[in-house]
Amino acid sequence: MAVQPKVLHYINGQFVEGAAGLYFTNINPFTNEPINEVAEGRKEDIDAAVRAAKEAFDHGPWRTMPVEQRLRYLFRIAELIEQRADDIAYLEALDTGIPISQAKKQAARAAENFRFYAEMVKTRLVGEAYHVHGQFVNYTVHKPVGVAGLITPWNTPFMLETWKVAPALATGNTVVLKPAEWSPLTANQLAEIIDEAGLPRGVFNVVHGFGETAGAALVAHPDVRLISFTGETTTGMDIIRNSAATLKKTSMELGGKSPLIVFADADLERALDAAVWGVFSLNGERCTANSRLLLEQSIYDEFVAWLKERVDRIVIGDPMNPATELGPLIHRDHWERVNRYIDIARQEGADVYAPSVPNGLENGNFVPPTLLLNCHNGMKVAQEEIFGPVMAVMSFADEEEAIRLANDVKYGLAAYVWTNDLKRGHRVAQAIESGMAWVNSPNVRDLRIPFGGTKYSGIGREGGHYSFDFYTEVQVVHVAVGDPPIPAFGKGEKRTTLSAEQA
Ligand code: NAD
Repeated sequence: MAVQPKVLHYINGQFVEGAAGLYFTNINPFTNEPINEVAEGRKEDIDAAVRAAKEAFDHGPWRTMPVEQRLRYLFRIAELIEQRADDIAYLEALDTGIPISQAKKQAARAAENFRFYAEMVKTRLVGEAYHVHGQFVNYTVHKPVGVAGLITPWNTPFMLETWKVAPALATGNTVVLKPAEWSPLTANQLAEIIDEAGLPRGVFNVVHGFGETAGAALVAHPDVRLISFTGETTTGMDIIRNSAATLKKTSMELGGKSPLIVFADADLERALDAAVWGVFSLNGERCTANSRLLLEQSIYDEFVAWLKERVDRIVIGDPMNPATELGPLIHRDHWERVNRYIDIARQEGADVYAPSVPNGLENGNFVPPTLLLNCHNGMKVAQEEIFGPVMAVMSFADEEEAIRLANDVKYGLAAYVWTNDLKRGHRVAQAIESGMAWVNSPNVRDLRIPFGGTKYSGIGREGGHYSFDFYTEVQVVHVAVGDPPIPAFGKGEKRTTLSAEQA
């Protein structure tokens, strides 16, 4: 498909240049050549988008229309995503370097996000009612909050954007989306689709630009009532700090350094499949990646030998080739960062094992699938998020040590436990300080369950009806159905004391 030479903002139902007419260059991670130019939003553009979104919230029909009508728009968006799935996958692979076969799955999930939230709002956006002493009925209603600011990262951008946009819109909010500057293309596909679906003007807006300018202006804007953020932990901290002055609701989906623990009694073949896929799919740029592998001592050597065989065969190549399993990293700066960590691993004494990148791929940001062997948990590479196709591998003596190592990290997003001892599977999963744990399972997620992390991996849960806690304001209405007593102030005897003048 032809790629548009300019990526514009989408504000109040129009594709527009920024107020200052600024642009930045979007780079292809496979060639490091320019793809196109992207409008660089600043405060004025955020102001315009928030004004449109506030107008649409306050006066538009979005919030007040019958819910069935609103949800019909969401089903239509899902249909249009499916119709354009090939284009979306192509643009995502072009923009991010994610292999096309994996980008296609992400596009399918994006359509599902809209359908799912339309159904959830209809069936699960429910309040509570209490009879109180026969005198009152108290009931709750969920109201949309207002203008939702959504700030997203560059990994699987389209899927993650829809994961926020769908519940925000379904519950009646209006939206300003600030996509990541390294992956702007598919956000505009979403804007085109929403435009074609005919949503009222101003309900959905996209402003491109950098975090420190466009993102920060969205966070600081007094008319934005909530910020849903996915990205790095340190950025999340800045956003919480900067949103304090306008007392916004914030939801934080942040980084991870998730352990995958394999006990000797596990189905080792399946554990191997899960460990390899979990860290090397999506080019390792995955928040829930099992970037720490903890192996029981007795199987360490055997398992590592299998791992080496697997990484040697992972197909590294052009993201547009359907056979490619590992593509280039998103950006040269990120490639440098990941390589820096691999150097640090060597300095810290890990054995680095990686196949070489095939010839002919020198222009892309390729990092081969990399094993950091014989790590210990005190190493920087075992503690910090690398966010690439790199796995720190270490051993443990027993269950107690496995749990201790798993928890000895500042993050708490995901965990994976492999054992055929059912009791131990539950016990270890529950002992790990993480928002999510999988037992004998790859990272597969039903949309109804909560998603999110603890410790430095985030605050709050998205997914299922949990998203309603964030995207709606709960109001309680107290109604007296009887004549409950009211203290009668001011009904006593008239005061007889004289005023100072009379006295
Ligand atoms: P990032 O924090 O650098 O950027 C994310 C977004 O925040 C971008 O749109 C950026 O422009 C914006 N931003 C940056 N500074 C800002 C500021 N001061 N104010 C407002 N906005 C600002 O993250 P990234 O590098 O794009 O993404 C990778 C990170 O995201 C990793 O740490 C990964 O673990 C995390 N992630 C977490 C989840 C999750 O669900 N927990 C999912 C995906 C990615």
